[in-house]
Amino acid sequence: MKLLDGKALAETIRAEIADGVAALQSERGIVPCLAAVLVGNDPASQIYVANKEKACVKVGMASRLFRLPATTTTEELLTLIDQLNADNAVHGILVQLPLPKSCDEFRVLDAIDPKKDVDAFHPENVGLLSQGRPRFLPCTPYGVQQMLVRYGIETAGKYVVVVGRSDIVGKPMALMMTQKAAGADATVTIVHSRTKNLPDITRQADIVIVAIGRAKFLSADMVKPGVVVIDVGINRLEDGKICGDVDFEAVKDVADAISPVPGGVGPLTITMLMLNTLTAARAASGIL
Ligand code: NAP
Repeated sequence: MKLLDGKALAETIRAEIADGVAALQSERGIVPCLAAVLVGNDPASQIYVANKEKACVKVGMASRLFRLPATTTTEELLTLIDQLNADNAVHGILVQLPLPKSCDEFRVLDAIDPKKDVDAFHPENVGLLSQGRPRFLPCTPYGVQQMLVRYGIETAGKYVVVVGRSDIVGKPMALMMTQKAAGADATVTIVHSRTKNLPDITRQADIVIVAIGRAKFLSADMVKPGVVVIDVGINRLEDGKICGDVDFEAVKDVADAISPVPGGVGPLTITMLMLNTLTAARAASGIL
């Protein structure tokens, strides 16, 4: 069984990003900058944003944090987004989700300049991805794909089952795996909470990618021997420990390769956000 170590892989990719940042600075005098917008006091969101800021600084990027109270209105957020869109020193804009219920999430995300939309949530970027000519790849699926590619796991012609159909993970993940591209070219099925006979489907898969937010959902009898399993889930157990959507201890004995939680997809998500910010800064400076 091969352990797909996302932490180690993230270090490798972050070193590559740091080289790219240094090159852009020395050649064009440009420092890639990510602006993060955090509304309200959600503790998990505060940790995510702090980690993103730290990661930026470590690879030599600039980061700006805009902390706004939970009472912020959609209009106030739109004004800030307009300012960040117009600011040439800002290359990537991230609005940490979820927004308070009083804010119109779609209106806010749709207002981000698609060229600065490093989360790849804007309809223009989703459309480009679906046409097979992505500007940015959404960070978590991008991390999963890099994990497959860099661990030398063949995807062409393989049967990939994606468990979960969210707009952030499941749907774009499935879309990416169907593309005519390296790390893709797969035959893909999406399953979700309304799927009948879900285990019968996952049992046929060469690669199972699980993103549902249900602790230890995927058990050993739901996969075939030799399967590759990527666990996107992050669940907090009663004892405070973090675990994935896969019953890791049981599934690892039947899998050829499996990603752990923590230390799997998680560290790659932030890494791909930084890579997208570097890509945005390079594009803004005329390097494609
Ligand atoms: P989400 O928006 O809540 O979507 C969950 C999806 O799972 C939905 O499509 C839902 O189906 C499906 N689902 C729920 N229970 C199911 C079941 N029993 N059987 C089959 N499908 C089921 O979640 P998300 O944002 O995609 O996140 C999923 C997990 O990944 C969470 O644990 C989240 O914390 C984690 N995550 C991790 C990272 C990372 O960096 N590692 C990034 C993002 C998310 P319906 O559509 O039918 O309701």
